[in-house]
Amino acid sequence: MIVVRRITVLAAGAAFVVAVAVAAFSIGRTGKVHEPVAKAAPAKVADGDLTTGTIASRPAPANSQSVPPAPAVAAPPAAPASVAAATPRPACPGNPNALGISRVVEIDTTGGPGFGFEQFKAHDFLDAGEIVLTFDDGPWPANTPAVLAALAAHCVKATFFPIGKHATWHPEILKQVAAQGHTIGSHTWSHIDLARKSTADAKDEIERGFSAVAISAGRPPAPFFRFPALRMTPELTAYLAERNIGIFSTDLDSFDFKIKKPDQVVVSVMTRLKKIGKGIILLHDFQRSTAHALPDLLVQLQAGGYRVVQLKAKDTVATLPQYDAAMAKAQTGQTSDGRPTASVVRTIGGYVNQ
Ligand SMILES: [Zn+2]
Repeated sequence: MIVVRRITVLAAGAAFVVAVAVAAFSIGRTGKVHEPVAKAAPAKVADGDLTTGTIASRPAPANSQSVPPAPAVAAPPAAPASVAAATPRPACPGNPNALGISRVVEIDTTGGPGFGFEQFKAHDFLDAGEIVLTFDDGPWPANTPAVLAALAAHCVKATFFPIGKHATWHPEILKQVAAQGHTIGSHTWSHIDLARKSTADAKDEIERGFSAVAISAGRPPAPFFRFPALRMTPELTAYLAERNIGIFSTDLDSFDFKIKKPDQVVVSVMTRLKKIGKGIILLHDFQRSTAHALPDLLVQLQAGGYRVVQLKAKDTVATLPQYDAAMAKAQTGQTSDGRPTASVVRTIGGYVNQ
């Protein structure tokens, strides 16, 4: 049973959030940490198959404009949907031209539904002119905070698909994503190509990823999953169905990971969007070019009359206890032992100094 239900219209944002976020963005503009992990965190790369490089191998379609079999006929953004019209949109502090959120949908992931017409055709839940913003491969210093800043400045909420390893390296950034009200799913533990792994290893990657995100964010994520490089197998989609985890493909792949110039990221998204008229947009908060492009992209989306739909999950994901325990131990300086020190260490004697 799939339920995509309209719930309420909302937009939120606090001036201080914007201020903090803008400050973070200014750091992001000059930071170097957007460089590939091998340069940015050499000590950690030794551990092998990280992975964000994997996405670079994802080929652009021969005709990159022919993105997905369009979810519906391209159409100019329509007037606000009746739900939006019925409820006045709250003001966005400091930004009279904020994009905001036109509606919020709740998704019941029972049975592992798939979304995004590039791979799934069953659920066409967006109206003409509606978009969903999704960001993969974070959390990452400078770039993810810059993305959060841009979203906060427009009182927009997005869905993030973090990599488990990145989440454990930068839990404080993932907590910022959660604190700002965005929806968080998962994107595996280490971003390997699951279609090239045994089913057992692939399941392990999926479960470790969810547990890592849960522990790093301080709360269970949504049961929303995106395959690295969108590479899925029937065995794994069946497994996600058993686990009641929804699969998110895309309607509009920005291919931002192949674009170095921020203005070209904007062109990539707006050009494709004009052709298909609506859709789930795939971006990467890991990417410096995307982080820098987002302020202008949001302005153009607002000027173009597009309306943002926020995704929420009906339930949180049910992480598996053995993976939670393993991830808790893996956290730097932490173990799964929650007993107070007085229960662990006690004085049983002493020596008298001469
Ligand atoms: Zn990815």
